[in-house]
Amino acid sequence: MLDLPFDLPVFEPGSVWLAGAGPGDPGLLTLLALHALRSADVVVHDALVDARILALIPAGVAAESMGKRGGEASARQADITARLIDLARAGKKVLRLKGGDPFVFGRGPEEALALVAAGVPFRMVPGITAGIGGLAYAGIPVTSKDTNSAVAFVTGHGPDGEIPDEFDWNALARGAPVLVFYMGLKHLDLLTERLMAAGRKADEAVAVVCNAATPRQIVLETSLAEAVQAVERAGLKPPALLVVGPVVELRRQLDWWIP
Ligand code: SAH
Repeated sequence: MLDLPFDLPVFEPGSVWLAGAGPGDPGLLTLLALHALRSADVVVHDALVDARILALIPAGVAAESMGKRGGEASARQADITARLIDLARAGKKVLRLKGGDPFVFGRGPEEALALVAAGVPFRMVPGITAGIGGLAYAGIPVTSKDTNSAVAFVTGHGPDGEIPDEFDWNALARGAPVLVFYMGLKHLDLLTERLMAAGRKADEAVAVVCNAATPRQIVLETSLAEAVQAVERAGLKPPALLVVGPVVELRRQLDWWIP
């Protein structure tokens, strides 16, 4: 379906492709994801998939919205996996499309495990995760030679909406100069407090990037101590990434993107 000088895998009826749609910009879809969008019989997507990407679903192909969104009523995970399995068993080519990458805070592993348990064949189609590609659209690299040789990707809350109990804040604060929090707005006060209590400096650079790689992208530059108030003042809402560390300062020179 795409005119390419190599073959893409055949989307077999009765199988599920678990694909990432990237952070927003449709140009960040992989060739495999586009191929899947054009050949699926049914697309089951989550709430974070950009409308411009959903517009690529051919007319007549069923699109079902099933997915989680922080703080909003959402389909139960068990219902989603049951639906994927039912559709595959009915002989459909099922595209399960998620924002970013399915294996990065995306419930991809749970869904893939359920498919394995049900004996449904599946393929993973990785996507560009918001915490890397989305930040690139804000002019923030996750590593740079002069600032950090490690980066930690962290979830700001677990499936129950709370900060995971197993967090070792001291280890996290010391372990990587750059921390990228997904779902970091809900408990921003706790996150920033705990990081400072664990030794990160109050004036350390922080960026909050909302709707990265979409025309609605907003980037707020602040500091650990001031982040809560600054976010409140700006009225920022999810989806947002929180970046802590020296790479944020590179944005001054690298802010290339004009929505
Ligand atoms: N699997 C996704 C992450 C899903 S968790 C990925 O790999 O990107 C949902 C969180 O991802 C949001 O709360 C937000 O923190 C982040 N996120 C996803 N898309 C985003 C975007 N376009 N802009 C900012 N944050 C985004």
